Amino acid sequence: MCALQKENLERIRADFPALAQQFWGKQLVYLDNAATSQKPKSVLELLNRMNSLTNANVHRAMYTLSDRATELYEAARTAAASFINASERECVIFTSGTTASINLVASSFSRRYIGKGDKILITADSHHSNIVPWQLAASACGAEIVVLPIKDNGEWEMEALPALLSKEVKIVAATHISNVLGIVNPVEKLIEAAHSCNIPVLLDGAQGIVHQKVDVKALDCDFYAFSAHKIYGETGSGVLYGKRKWLEEMPPYMGGGDMVGTVTFQKTTYAPLPLKFEAGTPNFIANAALAPALEYASLLRKGEMGRDVAESERAIVEYLLEALPKINGVRLYGIPADISRKIPLFSINVQGCNSGDIAQILDKLGIAARSGMMCAEPVMSRYGITGMLRASFAPYNTLQEAELYVEGLKRALAMLL
Ligand code: PMP
Repeated sequence: MCALQKENLERIRADFPALAQQFWGKQLVYLDNAATSQKPKSVLELLNRMNSLTNANVHRAMYTLSDRATELYEAARTAAASFINASERECVIFTSGTTASINLVASSFSRRYIGKGDKILITADSHHSNIVPWQLAASACGAEIVVLPIKDNGEWEMEALPALLSKEVKIVAATHISNVLGIVNPVEKLIEAAHSCNIPVLLDGAQGIVHQKVDVKALDCDFYAFSAHKIYGETGSGVLYGKRKWLEEMPPYMGGGDMVGTVTFQKTTYAPLPLKFEAGTPNFIANAALAPALEYASLLRKGEMGRDVAESERAIVEYLLEALPKINGVRLYGIPADISRKIPLFSINVQGCNSGDIAQILDKLGIAARSGMMCAEPVMSRYGITGMLRASFAPYNTLQEAELYVEGLKRALAMLL
C-alpha cells in the first residue's frame, strides 16, 4: 500500500469514532459490518442536531420548526432516489429497514396480485426476512413458495431458473448479495428472464446497496429494499423503492395518519405516493440521517478515495480467499468462479468447533466477528451445518485487520481443537 493510500484510509477511520475504542485491552477490530456498519461523524452530528434542535413532527404543522424537520426528511428521500437512480423521488418509500420493506411488498402485492394456486419464487441464499414474509403472504392467499437452489460454491443454480419460471409465478424475490455467502448474484440475468415471462422482481438489497453501485433504472428491478444502518446510517430506517405502476395499484400496507386523502366512517381515500405507504409518524430523524450516510457512501466510491477503497477491499478479498482455507479444519463458504464477484465477507465453519466459542475467544482479542445462523437457517441446512463464523469488512477496515483476524482465528482454534 502506498503512503497516500494509507493516508486516505486513515482519514476514513478517523471519521468513525467507534473504531477508536479498546476492548479487553486491545484495539477494536470491528468485523461485523454486514450486521451493522459504524456511523461517521457527519451522520452522528445530524442525529445529534436534529434530536437537540429540530425535533418536530413532519408534514403536519404550520410552524417553522416542523418545516425544518420536514425539509431534512424530504431531502433524504431525494438523496436516496438519486443514490439508486430512481426516476421519481415519490417511488422511494421510507420504512424501518429491509425487513419492513419486504413485509410491505409481500403483504400488499400478494393481496392485489396473488391467489390460490399461484407461486412465489425466492432464492435459496435468502435471509429470513426474504423468506418468512413470503410464507405469511403465501399462507394468507393460498400460494406456494418455490426456491431457486444454490450450488456448492454458493452461486445461484441458474440452469434451474427457466423451469421454475412457470406461469403460476407472480413475483420473484431475490437476494442481491447474501449476508452469508458474499457473492454478487447475477441479478441482471434473473430480471431479464423473469421479465420475459412478465414476472416482476424484488431485490433484497440489504448487502447489495453497500457493495454495489445500484441503478434501479438500469437494473429495471420492480422493487429494491435496503436498510440505512448497514450503510453508515441510523437503525430503524430503510427504503423501499418500487416502480410507480405497482405502488399505485397496491393497497396500503398500514392505515393511519398521514397516508390518507379524506376519511369518513364509511370510506377513506389515500394520499398520493409516497405517503400512501408511510402511515403514522415516521422515524424522521433516522430517515433524515440517510442523507449524510449516503453522501459518505458516495465519497467512498468517488475519485482517488474510491480507487484506494476498491484496491484495499480487493487486497483483503485476495488475502482471505487464500489464507482462510489453509487453516486446518476451516471450510470457507461462498467462493464464486469469478472472484471479482466476491465482496469482503467471509463465512467459515470449522469441523468440531462451535462458531460461538470461536467468536468469544476472538472477542477477548478485540475482534468483533459474527457467529451462528446469521438469520439464514436454510443456508446452514443446505451445507449440513448449524452455524458459521463470519467476518465482514467495510471500507474503514484494513488488510492489517484481516491479518489480525487470521492470527486470532489460529489462536482460537489452537485452544479449542
Ligand atoms: N437481508 C439481508 C441480506 C440482510 O443481510 C439483512 C440484515 N442482516 C436483512 C435482510 C434484514 O435487514 P434489517 O434487519 O435491517 O431489516
